[in-house]
Amino acid sequence: MTNAEQLRLLPSVDRLLGDPALEDSTARYGHHLTVTATREVLEQVREEIKGGQPTPSHTALVTRVEAYLRQHLAPTLRPVVNATGVVIHTNLGRAPLSAAARAAMEAAARGYSNLEYDLDAGQRGQRTLHTERLLCKLTGAESALVVNNNAGAVMLALNGLAAGRGVLISRGQLVEIGGGFRVPDVMAQSGARLIEVGTTNRTHRQDYARELAREGSDVALILRAHHSNFRIVGFTTEVEMDELVALGQAHGVPVMDDIGSGALLDTGAFGLTHEPMVQESLKAGAALVCFSGDKLLGGPQAGIIVGQAAFVDPLKRHPLARALRADKLCLAALQATLMHYLKGEAATQVPVWRMVSMALDEIDRRARRWRDRLRRAGIAAQVIDGRSTVGGGSLPGETLPTRLLALPVPAPDALVAALRLGDPPIVARIEGDCVVFDPRTVLPEDEAALLDTLVDTLLRIDTNFHE
Ligand SMILES: *Cc1c(COP(=O)(O)O)cnc(C)c1O
Repeated sequence: MTNAEQLRLLPSVDRLLGDPALEDSTARYGHHLTVTATREVLEQVREEIKGGQPTPSHTALVTRVEAYLRQHLAPTLRPVVNATGVVIHTNLGRAPLSAAARAAMEAAARGYSNLEYDLDAGQRGQRTLHTERLLCKLTGAESALVVNNNAGAVMLALNGLAAGRGVLISRGQLVEIGGGFRVPDVMAQSGARLIEVGTTNRTHRQDYARELAREGSDVALILRAHHSNFRIVGFTTEVEMDELVALGQAHGVPVMDDIGSGALLDTGAFGLTHEPMVQESLKAGAALVCFSGDKLLGGPQAGIIVGQAAFVDPLKRHPLARALRADKLCLAALQATLMHYLKGEAATQVPVWRMVSMALDEIDRRARRWRDRLRRAGIAAQVIDGRSTVGGGSLPGETLPTRLLALPVPAPDALVAALRLGDPPIVARIEGDCVVFDPRTVLPEDEAALLDTLVDTLLRIDTNFHE
C-alpha cells in the first residue's frame, strides 16, 4: 500500500471523536481539549505514515488520544513518597503538615474567614494577629510578624532597620544556605552595608568591639546568621549571643539573629546536638530573631520575626511587609501548628518532630514488615542499619540511627529512576549496590502505596530481582 493509500485509511477527527471512549474523554476533559488532542494525534500519525510507518488501528488511535490528554493534563506538582530519610527535604517540599494544620487550611480555603476582620468590634482587623499572639506566648517575645518566608523576613528586617547603614557580621557567617540565599547578597539587596568582622574560622569579641568603635553611630545592627547546612570544625571561635548583646548595648546597637530552622523544641532531647532555639536567643537579649515556618517548626512556608516591639512593630508598617505578606492558608496552617506547641503535643502531632523522635524499634518493625511483604512477592530484601538526617539547614553533619529496607539489585540507578516515575513517585537512596528505603520519612498512610509501587516496578523492570 502506498503512503497516500495508508493516509486515506485514517479516520477523520469527527469520526474518531465519535468513539465512545473519546466521548468519555470529552466529558472529563472538555470538548475543546479533546478535539485538540485528537487533531494533534492524527497530525503526528500522518507524519509517521509519511515516514514509512503502518497505519495504526482505530483502537490504537483512541488509546493515543487518551494518553495525550492524560499526559498534557496531569498535574505536574504531585505528592511523592520520601524514602530518603531526610526529614526536612527542601526539594520535596520541606515539612509535611499535621492533620490539624491541613484541616485549618481546608476550613480557611472553602469559604470566608475573619482574616482581616475583628469580629468583636465589627470592623477591619489585622491578618497577622492570628499567629502573632501565639508566637509571643510561645517564645516570650513582645511582638511578632509573619511574612512569606525567612529569606523575606531577613530582607525586610535588614531593609527596615539598616538600609543605608552598617551591619556587622562575622566572616564565618557569610554563608550561602542554598536556593540562592547568600547572606552577603541579601545584605546588598537590602541596602545595608556589610561590615565583615573577624576571620572565616575565628571571630572574637574584640573583633566586634573594634568595628563598633571604628564605625561609631553608623552601625545599625549586629547580625548573627546560623551556618545552616555547613559546619566549621577544628580551630574555631564564635561569639555567643549574650556577649554580642552586651557589646551592642554598650554602643546602642541591637542584635538580630537569623537562626534559620527555628526550633521551638530542644533537639538535644532527641539524641541530637542542641540546635539554637528561638526562646534562647530572645532570652539572651536578641532584639529580633528570624526563622522559617517550614523547617524544624514543622509548619507551612513562612518567615517569622519575633522580638522586641521597638524593632518588630515598625517592620509591620514597612511597604516590603505588604509585598511579602503571608496568605490566609499559610496563616491558618501556622496557627494550627503553633497550637500543637502550646498544648505540649508537638513531638507527637507535628510530623517533622514525630519523624525526628521516632523510636528505632518502631522503624525496625516497619522495615521488617516491608521486607516480609517483598519476600512474599518473591523479592530479595534485607533490613540493615543506616542513618537518617534532619535536613532543612539544621544540624549539619548530624545523623539519627535508623533501620533501612535494602534491596540488592544489579542496577540501582535504573531502579531509583524507575521508582521516580512510579505512581506515586518514590524517592529513594542508593547505598553501595543497594537501593535503600528509610521508614522514618515515609508517612504510615503512604506505606501501602510505596510497597505496591515497589513490587510492581521490580517485577516489571527486571526478572533478575527474583530470588
Ligand atoms: C533556611 C534559611 C533561610 C531561608 O529561609 P526560607 O524560609 O527558606 O526563605 C535563611 N537563613 C537561614 C540561616 C536559613 O537556614
